[in-house]
Amino acid sequence: MIRKHWFILVTLGATFATWGQPSLEMLIALSKPSEVWEPVPATVHFNERGVPSDAQDLFAGDSLSHWRTKAGEPAGWSVENGVVTVVPGSGDIVTREHYCDVQLHLEWRVPEVDTSLEGQQRGNSGVFLQSRYEVQILDSFDNPTYVNGQAGAIYKQSPPLVNAMTAPRQWQRFDMIYAAPIFEAGAMSKPPRLTVLHNGVLIQNNVALSGTTEWIGPPKVIPHGCDGLLLQDHGNPVQFRNMWVRRLDIADTADSP
Ligand code: MG
Repeated sequence: MIRKHWFILVTLGATFATWGQPSLEMLIALSKPSEVWEPVPATVHFNERGVPSDAQDLFAGDSLSHWRTKAGEPAGWSVENGVVTVVPGSGDIVTREHYCDVQLHLEWRVPEVDTSLEGQQRGNSGVFLQSRYEVQILDSFDNPTYVNGQAGAIYKQSPPLVNAMTAPRQWQRFDMIYAAPIFEAGAMSKPPRLTVLHNGVLIQNNVALSGTTEWIGPPKVIPHGCDGLLLQDHGNPVQFRNMWVRRLDIADTADSP
C-alpha cells in the first residue's frame, strides 16, 4: 500500500505541502478516472421568447397554424397581440402533430372575476395530453371547488400538491413531463405518468394515471397511440401565449409501477 502510494506520488510529480496533504495536482489526477466526457449533450439555444431550439414552437404569437379543430378544420380561437383567446362555443383545438412522451410548456390566464360565476364555471379550460388526459385549467384564486378539479389537478384523479395560482389576469406557467402509457394485448402495461410544475412549483410528482380523465364515471382504459395535445373550450375566454413542446423518449427509463 505504501509502495503504491509512493508510486502515485512519483508518477504524478506531485508534492506535499505538508506530510499527508496531497497537492491540488495530485487530487485532480486522482479525480480523472470517474470523469465522463462522452457523449456530449447537445447544446440548446433559446429564442427571444425563451423557446428552446430543440422544441416545437406551438404558438409564435401570430397564428394558430399548428392547431386545428377536432374535425380537422382551422382552429377558431382568436389571435391578437400575441395572445390566443378561447372563443366560447367554437370547440376544442388540437395540435396537428401527434405526440407521446413530451415536455410541455404553456402559459395561460383566466379572465377578470365574474361574480355571477363560481367553481367550475370560472376560467375553465384544460390541457389534454394525447387528447385524453386533462390537467385542469381554472380560476383557482379564491374560488373553491372540488380539489381534484381545481387548477393543476389531473382531472378527477389527483389534486395538486399545493395551490400555486396567482390572481386573475396574471399569467400562469405550466411545465409538464409526461410519459405516455404503454398497451400490450389490449391492457395498459404502463400507465401514463405526469409531473407538473405550476409557476415553478411542483404540484404533480410523477403521478400514475388510472385512465382517461372523465367528468362522469371512472377512468377508461382504451388502447391508443400518440395523439395531439388538446386545449379545451369550456365556455370561458381563457387566454394562452408561449406554448412549446419537446419530444421525449422516457418510456424505458421511467419507474415501473
Ligand atoms: Mg377543464
